[in-house]
Amino acid sequence: MRSIEHIYINGEFVVPCGEDRLDLINPATEEKIGDVRLGNEDDVKAAVAAAKRALPSLASSTKAERIDMLHSLRDTIAAKPDELVRTMTEEYGAPSYFTAFSVQNAASIFDVMAEAVAAYEFDRLVGKSAIRMLPRGVLAAITPWNSNFGFIATKLAHAIGSGSPLVIKPAEQSALQTEVFARRLHQAGLPSGVLNIVNGTGPIVGAALTNHPDVATISFTGSTQAAKIIQRAAIDGMKRVILELGGKAPTIIMQDADLDQAIPIALMSGFANSGQACVAGTRILAPRSRMTEVSEKLRVEIENLKVGDPQDPQVRIGPLASHAQWERIQTYIRLGVEEGATLLTGGTGRPTGLEKGWFARPTIFTGVTNNMRIAREEIFGPVLCLIAYDDEEEAVEISNDSEYGLQAYVLGSDQSRALRVAERLLAGRVIVNGAPHDPRAPFGGFKQSGIGREIGAYGLDGMLEPRAILTP
Ligand code: ADP
Ligand code: MG
Repeated sequence: MRSIEHIYINGEFVVPCGEDRLDLINPATEEKIGDVRLGNEDDVKAAVAAAKRALPSLASSTKAERIDMLHSLRDTIAAKPDELVRTMTEEYGAPSYFTAFSVQNAASIFDVMAEAVAAYEFDRLVGKSAIRMLPRGVLAAITPWNSNFGFIATKLAHAIGSGSPLVIKPAEQSALQTEVFARRLHQAGLPSGVLNIVNGTGPIVGAALTNHPDVATISFTGSTQAAKIIQRAAIDGMKRVILELGGKAPTIIMQDADLDQAIPIALMSGFANSGQACVAGTRILAPRSRMTEVSEKLRVEIENLKVGDPQDPQVRIGPLASHAQWERIQTYIRLGVEEGATLLTGGTGRPTGLEKGWFARPTIFTGVTNNMRIAREEIFGPVLCLIAYDDEEEAVEISNDSEYGLQAYVLGSDQSRALRVAERLLAGRVIVNGAPHDPRAPFGGFKQSGIGREIGAYGLDGMLEPRAILTP
């Protein structure tokens, strides 16, 4: 049992003004493992004031100073991954393959931003005008629970890279992870006020940040629903919003695909992060002529994806993050059946042998058409739809027929043909033939998947505004 009693303002761990508390639960055991004292509007005021005081100095820092800060952050996160991995497993329930990646990825985010800062042209000459790319002001960030370290690292990297002090409200359910991460970030010795962290709920701390007149930019990762509330609130303050939201990624299995290779990749993308990933490939599109073969292969291969205790290194799918998430998934599985889809595997309830913990059965629906709600809405759990297409044209059409446009996957033996299909997809990232994670690729989506991009120069562009000086 751990009680999180502090938030982080102006370089110090302080007791928040807010007095409400929230229980923290281990999703694999349903046991209470701690609680957190939540901040309120007054804490937001103090945090934004600290960030505002830090602005002049951070805004005028040199490239070399920013790169130094980013390297210190990388080093302090990379130094001892064990405690971070352990806390993420305990509080969030991600399988060990994913926690190991998350911690290493969080460190590399700072490195990638350091590279981007080194290459970025903050000073440019356009016509006769001297351009300088200036930070917009204080950055407020609001992030979800499905990859807490990565999100905090991403927002902080963009803050430092652009010279904008940060106030971040991570997901309140991730307070143990936020605490261990914050203690580590503190060791990087950033100037006071550059980083401020306020635990709290969306409607209280999130809303106070969104409405604060001294916040210039809001960087939000989370649901499309919350993003709309945030964007509306941002209008009055003329704040820029950068939104990284939901997805319903298609995975196109091409006519010529080698199923021995394609199906395991499709399943890993679909069930990534136990299905709680905005980038998960949740609509598998397969040629109608190969449907039987594809279904059979999916049914066989899914047996290799072990569900269970996230500490077990063999496990690929852990529990859902919360009871609310578990209920949501059950509702969608029932909905799929009601809509007339067929269960190829999985269904409601818990997997056999797992009576405790918010474990759902990895589920695949066949006979799905793209107009069904299970094919259109983001489920955010281990539930996939198998959709038939007649030809390449139709595969592209179904893929793009979505409110979302965050990520897409194409799997085929003829790579140039797969690439031609990839070029017709409207998604922020298209992954061809299981290409590995590229930490330098811009991230963000089209349509309801968001506005703007993160990572590298694309990420910096969103945080900066050009000032032009014209001389006679
Ligand atoms: P989920 O409902 O799955 O937690 P959300 O998009 O609601 O996903 O949560 C992502 C982040 O947004 C969390 O930090 C949450 O507290 C915050 N949030 C939720 N609602 C609001 C809101 N109205 N204003 C600001 N932040 C919000
Ligand atoms: Mg919500």
